[in-house]
Amino acid sequence: MNRQALDELKQQIPLMGYLQAQDWSPARPLSGGRWMGLCPLHEDHKPSFLVDTNKDLFYCYGCGRGGDVIRFAELYHQVKFPEALALLRQWRGVDHSLLHEAARFYRIQLHRHSEAVAYLYQRGVRSWATIERMRIGYAPGGCLRSWLTQLGQSLPALRQAGLVTAAGYDAFVHRIVFPLEGNLYGRSVSAAAPPHRFLPGAKGGLYAWAQVRQYPEVILVEGLLDCAVLWEAGFHNVTCSLGTHLNARQFRQLCDSPRTVYLAFDADGNGSGQQAAQCLSRSLREQGITARLISLPEGHDPNSFFVGGGKAQEFQCLLEEACP
Ligand SMILES: [Zn+2]
Repeated sequence: MNRQALDELKQQIPLMGYLQAQDWSPARPLSGGRWMGLCPLHEDHKPSFLVDTNKDLFYCYGCGRGGDVIRFAELYHQVKFPEALALLRQWRGVDHSLLHEAARFYRIQLHRHSEAVAYLYQRGVRSWATIERMRIGYAPGGCLRSWLTQLGQSLPALRQAGLVTAAGYDAFVHRIVFPLEGNLYGRSVSAAAPPHRFLPGAKGGLYAWAQVRQYPEVILVEGLLDCAVLWEAGFHNVTCSLGTHLNARQFRQLCDSPRTVYLAFDADGNGSGQQAAQCLSRSLREQGITARLISLPEGHDPNSFFVGGGKAQEFQCLLEEACP
């Protein structure tokens, strides 16, 4: 991408608009189109983040970082320059109606593909109520493109959304699909393909946060299949961060009112899930949020716990035994 194209991209994405889309809001105005607010890049307690809307630049007096919207995207999403550009281009071009149409198509396909229903059953997702509530679909591969182009969508738009590859094939093949806000997550049903895929762009906030945030106690899990089995077991106060690393927006959501957060990350052999949970619980406590770590049996995640015969009552005991 040359200098001129970079400048064009920056003109199309004013820094303030992008910040606000990431849930940032200024705390107070300064002179000359400048604003101060809490820094979204570090845990800030008094506004130290300066945004200059005339120059489209930011600077944080707390963590000392600053730059343009591209630099912000690099730091905020913790990606390198080329990925930050891709995220911004995606954000500029994301067509939510297109994602909605794709998700609708995938939901129809789920009912037509017994292998997908069988996969969900094997992963503990066994009630249609869960499938309907989470709007779970299936991407068989090879037919989304023709469906959407028949509906009048253009091939370049499908490519830009990442639904179709540069070569013109469906991007999601043999994947269980969960709609997210502004993205789709595809879980491969085949062990031969990478298990997790998203469309280009940010993974968004915490899953179903608008419904879950009303609970004084919430359970946070890594994956959507963990979320699904817990919901099916009657735990409706469950949300998901899509990985152990929370983006700044997800972290702010967890802290948006006083609550207890139960962290049920994978108890994998190398301890990475537990390490991430401990690190997160410390950060939450610093924000005045009560955090408790759920100790699953070694080698289990919430999904395998229930698939392996774990009962809701047993998980309830784990919640009660969870340590700070
Ligand atoms: Zn900062």
